[in-house]
Amino acid sequence: MLWAMEYYTMNADEIGTELVFLKTGATKPYRFYDEQLREVQEMIPREFAMMNASYEYGDFPARPSQRECLSCKFAEVCSERKM
Ligand code: SF4
Repeated sequence: MLWAMEYYTMNADEIGTELVFLKTGATKPYRFYDEQLREVQEMIPREFAMMNASYEYGDFPARPSQRECLSCKFAEVCSERKM
């Protein structure tokens, strides 16, 4: 929505958004309100900075938990996994 508003120089109320379920073709329209969009606009640079900061971490210690490890895609090769 934010991208479309900037690219097409349109207001939020002029742009339609919808979630499309590819298997069924069903759609679910979404409406975004100004306050939501402002929150997302503020969140993007903050989250981006946090993601970039992760490059400076020395390592990523494992944090095993039964719930997470059960569905983890790395469980087969992880020495820390909880079963
Ligand atoms: S299996 Fe390893 S990497 Fe996956 S959640 Fe558990 S501790 Fe983390």
